[in-house]
Amino acid sequence: MQKITESVVLFVALMMTSFGCAKASEASNFNSLPSKPVSESPELRGPQPAIGEQAPTDTQLEALLTVCYPTPGSQVCPKVYALKNHPLANSDYRYRDPFTDPSFPGANPERYRKPLHVLDLTKMNLSLKASKNFSFGEFLSVSKGPLAILSRIVLERLELMRTDFGRGIQITSGYRSPGYNSGISGSAAWSRHMYGDAVDLVVSGFSVNGMKRVCEGRGGFALTYEDGHVHCDWRTVPQDADFFGQSSKSGLQTLAEIRSALSADLVIEFKQSDSIGHLSVTGESEEEGSLTREWKLRNLESGVEYFSSDLEIVTALEPGPYSVSVTVGQALVSETEIVVE
Ligand SMILES: [Zn+2]
Repeated sequence: MQKITESVVLFVALMMTSFGCAKASEASNFNSLPSKPVSESPELRGPQPAIGEQAPTDTQLEALLTVCYPTPGSQVCPKVYALKNHPLANSDYRYRDPFTDPSFPGANPERYRKPLHVLDLTKMNLSLKASKNFSFGEFLSVSKGPLAILSRIVLERLELMRTDFGRGIQITSGYRSPGYNSGISGSAAWSRHMYGDAVDLVVSGFSVNGMKRVCEGRGGFALTYEDGHVHCDWRTVPQDADFFGQSSKSGLQTLAEIRSALSADLVIEFKQSDSIGHLSVTGESEEEGSLTREWKLRNLESGVEYFSSDLEIVTALEPGPYSVSVTVGQALVSETEIVVE
């Protein structure tokens, strides 16, 4: 019979100390899937698909969600569709992951999360009003991306800016798919136009600096261009949850802070009864679109490795020393050893 050595007990105690102890309610929420045994041939197992990456079902293909825009009188609420499963989501919709892409500039990755839901412009009447003075077609066009995002902050703030200007605003560019954006010379790799909260605008009778001040006065981030237009976006506010989901760690600013918060409540436990080893990694519930936590168990003598983004592994373990490593958003947060006798 195998049993846990003192070093395992020490290891568990160490992990409890270094990671802190998650509350029971959090731990039980972390993994909604039942624990299951892994393959009898662990050496044949590659990395497992993350939770939520199962094949799409018909009901997922047809959106059940709508986004309502602040139109006076009658609300307009177009449907939104899951981007992941949409038949029009071709290579133009490869959003970069701000949590893992080395080209990400580093500030506020939570504001650059990939969209979960999109409007389908082929099923919309773009001449409809999205707010009192602006129609959908002023921001969205099939040629720049048939699947699109129009964050409501844009309409809310543009209506206020229209009052500030005392006249109409001409929108020269709104949403762009990542593929379309990358084809524009000089476009920013992380352009807010791909996130549906940026507009390029022109207002007759105003200088670029005058337009920039009005954008900034309504909480926007502005850039002036020599051709007379101003880029105005709302990267400073949380992403529209109906398109991007709820931010899992709202209020946190940097990738390091988010990684540290996700690591802080991890509890790693190893138990053994007869020949069955049971390793579990638990922590606070993970939201779609946030950093992925994965762990690896490696037999240091045979080299056999177990990978999982599931949170529990129950398997027969050969005696020997193992290394256990846990990554959050592909960055190593913990590495230690256990011994099975
Ligand atoms: Zn722009």
